[in-house]
Amino acid sequence: MRVLIVGPQGAGKGTQAMLLAQNLKVPHVSTGDIFRANVGAGTDLGVLAKRYMDAGELVSDEVTSAMVAARLAEPDAEPGFLLDGFPRTAPQARWLEGLLAERGQKVDSVLLLEVPDHVLMARMLARGRADDTAEAITRRLELYHTETKPLLDFYANLVVPVDGVGTVDEVQRRALSALNR
Ligand code: AMP
Repeated sequence: MRVLIVGPQGAGKGTQAMLLAQNLKVPHVSTGDIFRANVGAGTDLGVLAKRYMDAGELVSDEVTSAMVAARLAEPDAEPGFLLDGFPRTAPQARWLEGLLAERGQKVDSVLLLEVPDHVLMARMLARGRADDTAEAITRRLELYHTETKPLLDFYANLVVPVDGVGTVDEVQRRALSALNR
């Protein structure tokens, strides 16, 4: 099963993705995690990515796509995967379609974790992180809406919305049943 998970910051996407990958028995491929691992290990990729990540900008499609291609070429990702944080732009989505087409594969579902902005705002303000000012949070939410909308249009009939308000277990159960698992 090939699934993408999409959701705004503060929606609990990372937690849900980790559990979902375990339950679906597919590798959890998170581009953010792979970038962070490279930053931690001080690889060339990490050095390059860090500048963008620190600035809150997206790493170039070229660099990100090459990294995803390498990860999806590993044998464990052949039968399926849960992609978290990729694609994030319409060009990345088109690129992924091409890669999968070469493998005779396609995306099965796009799980959309839905949490209302006012709930996200409250959760992020409660974290109390230095970069979690009301202005910064509002801006990130705006960017999520402007960047993600075209992606959801691209995948239109594959999008499976899931209510992300509730306990971790509740949301996970909803996600699994939305995917008919
Ligand atoms: P995340 O953990 O998904 O929020 O990703 C952390 C950072 O990694 C982002 O702010 C970007 O700088 C970079 N990143 C992750 N995924 C992508 C992607 N699909 N395209 C470009 N940059 C990405």
